[in-house]
Amino acid sequence: MLIYLNGRLVKKEQARVSVFDHGVLYGDGVFEGIRSYNCLVFKLKEHIDRLYASAQGISLRIPITKQQMQKAVIDTLVANRLKDAYIRLVVTRGEGDLGLDPRNCPKPTIFIITDKIALYPPELYKKGLTIVTVPTRRNTPEALNPQIKSLNYLNNILGKIEAINAGVPEAIMLDQSGFVTECTGDNIFMIKDGVLMTPQISVGVLNGITRSSVLSLASKAGLEARECMITRFELFNADEVFLTGTAAEIIPVVKTDCRFIADGKVGRYTLKLIENFKKLTKKEGVRYAV
Ligand code: PMP
Repeated sequence: MLIYLNGRLVKKEQARVSVFDHGVLYGDGVFEGIRSYNCLVFKLKEHIDRLYASAQGISLRIPITKQQMQKAVIDTLVANRLKDAYIRLVVTRGEGDLGLDPRNCPKPTIFIITDKIALYPPELYKKGLTIVTVPTRRNTPEALNPQIKSLNYLNNILGKIEAINAGVPEAIMLDQSGFVTECTGDNIFMIKDGVLMTPQISVGVLNGITRSSVLSLASKAGLEARECMITRFELFNADEVFLTGTAAEIIPVVKTDCRFIADGKVGRYTLKLIENFKKLTKKEGVRYAV
């Protein structure tokens, strides 16, 4: 396996970062999770734009252009001869000293890992997930804006631990007022009476690329799309619920907090959106050859 590290492709065993890297010491950095389908990197431009926006959010200047970053992603995929891949693109503050001061980190560290994709087991896409609401609240936008896809994922990991302790794979995280935000690694949607709803970005959620795709696919599935405040009560009474993310794609939810969603079966709109999303992954993105 070859890893892109600061402009070079190196063997996995040689891909090392310093223990003084502020990405390691403080989670000071940003990242993206991207996917390629049959030699097409899905929405690569959108992911790179979001990476640079996250970096801007933490005052981190990425020392290469977006075009160079795109080329680095493609070069890494080609070097590893991967047609279908999960891509992890990471930019840290770089090596510094033991203090917090980012001015002591002159050179950001950039690395790209391309690997096989690890999905939820296929039967979960047919049967749907059971999830729970967890006590840990999502970071507030005023403290650490969830729109910044930073290397500091402890808030999400705390939520994930609580989900695992409850025996389920994902968790609904609420904001400080008790409104639904997102799950630990996915956005959340509900459908009620032909309306597709998802929490608006300002409540404190990542502006998911899959989320945007699903919102744009709504009308094709015969749904009106709305970004709005959502309560747990509304989720309990939804017709359909599902999660979206680059790795998970669209995964149905059939039970939350011990309540079945509608009849506890995967809904027809969710199935339609899954089908339309699959079609989108075959045509949207940047092509390469291996
Ligand atoms: N929310 C969080 C917290 C995430 O980490 C992710 C990405 N795994 C998402 C939502 C989904 O975003 P995307 O569709 O861009 O992968």
